[in-house]
This record gives sequence, C-alpha cells and structure tokens, in this order.
Amino acid sequence: MGRTELLNEINQQVSVCEKCELHFSRKTAVPGEGPAEAQILFIGEGPGFFENEQGRPFVGQAGKLLDSLLVEIGLERSKVYITNVVKCRPPGNRDPLPEELTACNDYLERQIAALQPRVIVTLGRYSMAKFLPTAKISEVHGQSRWVKGRLIAPMYHPAAALHQPSLKPALVKDFQKLPEYIQLAESRSAENPCEPVIPAEPVQHEENAEQLNLF
Ligand code: URA
Ligand code: SF4
Repeated sequence: MGRTELLNEINQQVSVCEKCELHFSRKTAVPGEGPAEAQILFIGEGPGFFENEQGRPFVGQAGKLLDSLLVEIGLERSKVYITNVVKCRPPGNRDPLPEELTACNDYLERQIAALQPRVIVTLGRYSMAKFLPTAKISEVHGQSRWVKGRLIAPMYHPAAALHQPSLKPALVKDFQKLPEYIQLAESRSAENPCEPVIPAEPVQHEENAEQLNLF
C-alpha cells in the first residue's frame, strides 16, 4: 500500500473506532489532515469543541494561532500534516487519560510510519512526552533533538499561549527556528540517502544523551 492508501485506511478506522471511552462522547473523530507527501508533522493534544464538530484538527482559537504562526514563517498549512495524540475530544477539553493515550497510540504510530516525516513538531506536553518522556516543556521548548533518526521539535501548545499570554513570545520565537530545523533534517537525509529514517537500532549517542537525562 502507498502512503495515501495507508493514511486513508487509518482515517477510516479512526472514524469508527471504539477502542477507548472517548468514542462515547465524541461527535466526530478527528484523524488529522494534510498531504501524504508532507515532510513535517505537527502533533497536538486532542480535538476541542470545534474540531469535534467539524472532524478537522486545529480549526478553533488554537488553530487560528497555529495558522498565524505558520504564516509568519512562510510554511503553508496545506503542505504540512496535522494530527493529535488522541483523535476524539476529551469531554470538556480535559487532559487525555493514560489509557486513552495508549489506546490511540497505534494510529499515530501508523501515521508516522506512512508519512516518514523529516521533522515532527510536538505541540504541548502530551505529544512531547511520546518522544521525550523525561523532558520538561519549560526547559526544552524550541530545542530540537534527534530521536531515533528523526528531528523532534517540542513547542508549547498554542492553546497554552492563549491561556497564558506570557508564553506567546517564546512560542513565536520557537516557531522561527523551524525553517532551520527543516533544512537541517533535509541536509541530513540528503547526506545519507540510503539511511533508513528510523534505524533498526537507536543511534548510540542519542541513547547516551537520554540516559544522562540531557533532554
Ligand atoms: N488543540 C489540539 O491539541 N488539537 C486540536 O486539534 C485542536 C486544539
Ligand atoms: Fe479510538 Fe483514539 Fe477515539 Fe479512543 S480517542 S475512540 S482510541 S480514535
């Protein structure tokens, strides 16, 4: 199966998924959207009110801020893939529960496997924790890290910057680093065109960094 077919299959399965309790309260599941060729993947937390209504990610207030952050750095929303760690709205926008994150993780894994993005931008704590489980967002936001051969760029969640305006300048500044990160990831894959994007074994120095708790 090609990328498009894989992504379509995931979307179809998410739309009828009943693997966790969130399916009871959702109106519309939100699998994510973007082109199958996207090289940048943005991962948020979960659908909010408007996303649940429309079945599309980041279409409410946080989405408006994300749109403007993308415009600022000249990255077209239509060229990136956007999804969330949970695909159905947690009631009242509460935080997703561990069992919901676990139940939904397989869809995200399959989206990453299909897209093979060069850069993954995590928005907020929950998507960051998937790649940098010991990191604190206040310490690592805006600093990219290679994790299993992929460049991970952790950012504050746009909704956090809306609730806590003091975070916004950092979010804007962190987004301004993204073009550089994209270039870095592109040049690394141009240097190693035969290297698998996810090496079979974790790269040694990254493991060491993780053990030393540098993240
Ligand atoms: N917040 C998220 O984390 N994801 C969305 O899709 C919308 C708001
Ligand atoms: Fe399924 Fe994920 Fe929705 Fe839970 S949140 S019902 S696992 S798609």
